[in-house]
Amino acid sequence: MDPLSLIRGILDTTEDAARALVGRERIRLAVTGLSRAGKTVFLTSLIANLLAAGRGARTLPALSDAAGGRIRRVFIVPAGTETIPRFDPEGHLGALAADPPRWPERTEDFSTLQIAIDVERRTSLGGILPERRVTLDLIDYPGEWLLDLPMLRQDYAAWSEETLARLKRGVRAEPAAEFLAFLDGLPDDAAAEDALAKRGYTLYRDMLRTCRDVHGLRLLQPGRFLNPGPRGEAPLLWFFPLPATARGGLAQLCARRFDAYLADQRAYFLDPYFSRFHRQVVLVDVLGALHAGEEAFHDTGDALSAVASIVSGANWLERLLGAAPTRVAFAATKADHVPTRARDALAALVEHITLGARGRTEQSGADVSFHALAAIRCTEDAVARLEGHSVAAVRGVLLQDGVGATIYPGEVPMKPPEPAFWDAGLFTMPEFRPPRLDPAGLSGVPHLGLDGLLAWLVGDAL
Ligand code: GDP
Repeated sequence: MDPLSLIRGILDTTEDAARALVGRERIRLAVTGLSRAGKTVFLTSLIANLLAAGRGARTLPALSDAAGGRIRRVFIVPAGTETIPRFDPEGHLGALAADPPRWPERTEDFSTLQIAIDVERRTSLGGILPERRVTLDLIDYPGEWLLDLPMLRQDYAAWSEETLARLKRGVRAEPAAEFLAFLDGLPDDAAAEDALAKRGYTLYRDMLRTCRDVHGLRLLQPGRFLNPGPRGEAPLLWFFPLPATARGGLAQLCARRFDAYLADQRAYFLDPYFSRFHRQVVLVDVLGALHAGEEAFHDTGDALSAVASIVSGANWLERLLGAAPTRVAFAATKADHVPTRARDALAALVEHITLGARGRTEQSGADVSFHALAAIRCTEDAVARLEGHSVAAVRGVLLQDGVGATIYPGEVPMKPPEPAFWDAGLFTMPEFRPPRLDPAGLSGVPHLGLDGLLAWLVGDAL
């Protein structure tokens, strides 16, 4: 059988499956992560493992236990008349089933998929009742958009002041130099010319891209400048921060567009989607941030705590949008890069950086939890020799040359590390090859901790 037919078999999206029962409950589970956090891999593994669990495999033990071992059937709900793109499980699972297996192509934008889970019901005397269907609405959106949330609390002047101050500090100063020089050359009474507005926007957007791609920074606003979404780049985006002294038509135009941008993000994303999420997972590549160095690490922490103070302090968000997620999980991804004993430290570290000073002061409306997980486990624990000592390491196949290697990644601190940590050398993070998906899809995908995360997020609904 060709690989595509096999994947179709695994997916089981048949009309029959869809017709078997009428949906009873719907849980909207939003998945996001700052770029390269591992969103696509997370969703692909979640789908493969849920489908395997529906076929009786014990691939998600904690979730199966939370459901009392009563998961009977899992299938992907066929596409209906959705107006937003659909997550592509065929393509993503196909990449993992290829020989040699490949990582799925990453998704940039917004996508959705519905998964139906049929759960057996019994009376207290053990009699069998009709099955209950829980539909998981998976919604995948760019984490960059989350960083628009803190902007909703600011006006253009406050946002400009904060943003420009940040641009002048640390590693940002160099990529921001051209944009800042452009601002210096602008008269305070610059007129509302679109050529100027577009030039400023382009310089500002390119600077954000360099900060993200070259320096590993994450506290980058506005989110749609980096991920415009399916509607592309519109004139609405042609604004940028200006100093308080700017008083001319250009400053007024930028302020108007700032307001219009936030109003549009509300109308297009926050009100119709975000306010309707029941549960939310925020994925963070904490190990990648450790690898990228001190400033990238602290910037990731600032971005996360800015988001956490709003998402988990759901009271404010609820007042603004009318509703907000009730459970929010923050998960450090790619935990298979470090040996077992370092994973508790990783979960503690994500908690520490997420609940930075700002997060803690907020009155919390949502339940929040912290996890370390590998959506696809590519390594086993191993022992390496370092300066004559045995150290805990991991062993996997390197993506680049397909050769097995034992890697000592470095130590994972339980809280933001002291300056000496950064002096001592970098945290190592090679890219591993994923294990090959068994083409019958019966055994799911090896992972670490995905089941515990799902049990916490949706176990109560099963
Ligand atoms: P996205 O941009 O958030 O969608 O990121 P992806 O899901 O595409 O992940 C980016 C890359 O991170 C992948 O291509 C893998 O190389 C790596 N990755 C993601 N998840 C895991 C994991 O669980 N284990 C390992 N070893 N690598 C992972």
